[in-house]
Amino acid sequence: MQSIVDLCLSHPWFFYTLAGIVSLMVGSFLNVVIYRLPIMMERDWQREYHSYFTPNEAPPHTERFDLVKPDSTCPQCGHKIRYWENIPVISYVLLGRRCSQCKTVISFRYPAVELITAIMSVWIAVHFGPSLAALTGIVLTWLLVAMTFIDLDKMILPDQLTLPLLWIGLLASTDTVFVTPTDAILGAAIGYFILWSIYWAFKLLTGKEGMGYGDFKLLAALGAFTGWQGLLIIILLSSFVGAAFGIVMMLRQKQGKDLAIPFGPYLAIAGWLTLLYQDIITTTYFNWVLG
Ligand SMILES: [Zn+2]
Repeated sequence: MQSIVDLCLSHPWFFYTLAGIVSLMVGSFLNVVIYRLPIMMERDWQREYHSYFTPNEAPPHTERFDLVKPDSTCPQCGHKIRYWENIPVISYVLLGRRCSQCKTVISFRYPAVELITAIMSVWIAVHFGPSLAALTGIVLTWLLVAMTFIDLDKMILPDQLTLPLLWIGLLASTDTVFVTPTDAILGAAIGYFILWSIYWAFKLLTGKEGMGYGDFKLLAALGAFTGWQGLLIIILLSSFVGAAFGIVMMLRQKQGKDLAIPFGPYLAIAGWLTLLYQDIITTTYFNWVLG
């Protein structure tokens, strides 16, 4: 272990390569998390409902279903996916983008998630260099990728992902990996409070819900990484990107303006960019505003 750390410190290229390979494999696991975690949550809710309201009936979903079991299978034919069919990106290409058994086309989403995870992680590794900041930033990236796709699919940001991210951000601040503990705590608390206030103001005025509690928790977690100083940038960036995407999607789908769009992905992208480029964004903005 010590020799790997030494190798990373003395040979940054080794560190970048290692970050890329590990993140490809993690990306493969994130595909499992993205698909299974919402199902696990739904089953938990059903079991809770059942044990509270109908405790005398047979409980639903007693078979094991978690991130490890059952083994991955082709959703079409149930063919068990063997280890050599499960190599990130490579298997997808070698199998000709199809299930080896029934030849059903495999979604491009799977290799895309793996590639996005790897590229963003290597980006972090190069940006921060071999350091604790890079390792923490890479874990942040993994969690944000999982949250982004789950929110896109299901419009939820699971506590199982947002809360650990918040703890990691706060713990990292004890060693001032990105910001001081004071800035991190203020970032988390103010981040939560800002979206909470907007949510309730919007709800009281219009009777509608513009976002959910998961969004508050995600901004709190991001605030723990960037400090309170990063919050304004995150909110402005995410609103800007969200509005741009939202308008495009509404025009394409030709639906009413009440079309529900998850806010989590924009917060995630904005938070990630702010952690890396907070200084550049701030100086550019002030130069632009002040001329
Ligand atoms: Zn199949």
